[in-house]
Amino acid sequence: MNKFKITIFCEMTKRDYPAEVSFELVSKSYEMVKNIENSEIQVIIVGKRINYDKIIDDFSMQGADKVIVVNDDVFTDYSPSLYKKAIVEILKQEKPDIVLFGATVMGRELAPLVATELQTGLTADCTDLSITDDKKLEATRPTFGGKMNAVIMCRTFPQMATVRPNVFKHSKEKILKDTAVDFNWIDVHSEKNNLSILEFIPFEQLNNKDLLKAKIVFAGGKGLKNKNNFAKLYELAKLTGGSTGASRGAVDAGFAPPEIQIGQTGQSVSSHIYIAFGISGMAQHLAGINSCDTIIAVNNDENAPIFQHADIGIIGNAVEIIDKMVEKLKNKSLEI
Ligand SMILES: Cc1cc2nc3c(=O)[nH]c(=O)nc-3n(C[C@H](O)[C@H](O)[C@H](O)COP(=O)(O)OP(=O)(O)OC[C@H]3O[C@@H](n4cnc5c(N)ncnc54)[C@H](O)[C@@H]3O)c2cc1C
Repeated sequence: MNKFKITIFCEMTKRDYPAEVSFELVSKSYEMVKNIENSEIQVIIVGKRINYDKIIDDFSMQGADKVIVVNDDVFTDYSPSLYKKAIVEILKQEKPDIVLFGATVMGRELAPLVATELQTGLTADCTDLSITDDKKLEATRPTFGGKMNAVIMCRTFPQMATVRPNVFKHSKEKILKDTAVDFNWIDVHSEKNNLSILEFIPFEQLNNKDLLKAKIVFAGGKGLKNKNNFAKLYELAKLTGGSTGASRGAVDAGFAPPEIQIGQTGQSVSSHIYIAFGISGMAQHLAGINSCDTIIAVNNDENAPIFQHADIGIIGNAVEIIDKMVEKLKNKSLEI
């Protein structure tokens, strides 16, 4: 009987450690294959030459049966064509049933390139996964602007999906597995690399704490009018130990970088407090804040749709309110 295999692409960050979503996908896969005999959860790491022992141990504890490492200094900077080549070669050798990527900036680019090369289907931006009794992947994703969920099944193999970060949890249970490690070398040197990195500007320069882990998120929309007003949210976040997010309206207007967009095509947050400044509250934005405990909205239009979804609504000028909050926090007279 052939092994039933799920392969997860491990996204390495600039900190030389995997993105949280890679662990979330391994943990979810472990849960999905619990009742499937002869199954294997594999992780593919593509990256520069570093010591991967700790990373392999951490994947092992989430339930990975095998970690395949393709390490070469040519992979120091992310290159879509080189990474695609390495992943496709491994997948051709391993022939998994299911392949999962995080729906991150990298995963959203890489997964379609891999799917096209393998001539298979891909369900993008999923919020849930399950496996049927006949071992097929059912991938759930929001549709019609977040008003409905569609359950999609690829007819071709491997069945592929990208999954949003933060929808599955890193398992707390530590699994003891004798994880196999396979160091692999894929010749990508003949592959055309049509990208060169001129400069790397760390996202941390914004002093923005991890949006997905923050207890309080200050999100800004197009109603903040310009980049300078938007930047005040970073100060609020810094003063409270929170993080800053943006609507697509703010990202499209150039006030904020796409990495911090919240919503259907951005990230999903699950903070205790979420404050929306000058955000109208379209369904696509709301799709990313469903799991927040308390939603506070500041908008100068009393009929703004966001008020229908907010626990607390403040009608007023968002910029003036942000300025007051910054001032009070600086004087430490406002505790959050
Ligand atoms: C396929 C698809 C995917 C999408 N994905 C996303 C997504 O992931 N995330 C997302 O956010 N959007 C997404 N959108 C876009 C979404 O539909 C909205 O267009 C977007 O969220 C609007 O951003 P906004 O609320 O900042 O801007 P607007 O809709 O222009 O709202 C601005 C708000 O600011 C208020 N305002 C103006 N001035 C002030 C002031 N001085 N003080 C207080 N309030 C003020 C206004 O009353 C208004 O309510 C998507 C759309 C599509 C079609």
